[in-house]
Amino acid sequence: MNKGKCICGKVSYEVTEKVEKLYQCHCTMCQQQTGSSSQTGFFVGTESFKWISGEFSITNFCKESGYSYSFCSKCGSTVPNMFRSGNKFWVPAGALVNLKNAKVEDHIFVADKADWDDIGGEGVQHEGFYPVFADPLDLHI
Ligand SMILES: [Zn+2]
Ligand SMILES: [Zn+2]
Repeated sequence: MNKGKCICGKVSYEVTEKVEKLYQCHCTMCQQQTGSSSQTGFFVGTESFKWISGEFSITNFCKESGYSYSFCSKCGSTVPNMFRSGNKFWVPAGALVNLKNAKVEDHIFVADKADWDDIGGEGVQHEGFYPVFADPLDLHI
């Protein structure tokens, strides 16, 4: 069981399945959205995800292209984002309290990475999109 929350604590949730695989996206939109090198997270089906608090304090942003993310309306922290397919969430790894034994297995959009982004670890590096998104509705951009 992994619990996650935003900085102000208003939005909290739990993931009831074991989290092992993480995906790290280095695309330019993830750089802009995070103000950092990338965004790291994982997918979880709705059956293994539960909001504890603050579900209605979330703002969703969606570009016309379909790129979307969600954040706490009070503190701006990135929070889980429901994909358009409606059957799973993208959960930001850094928001989970006490996440252990999970690894970044795939880096995506490595071709777009910032010049100063020095990718390490054993994760496989993909130039662009990688079909971790089994559902065609889950287009990242
Ligand atoms: Zn918050
Ligand atoms: Zn991205």
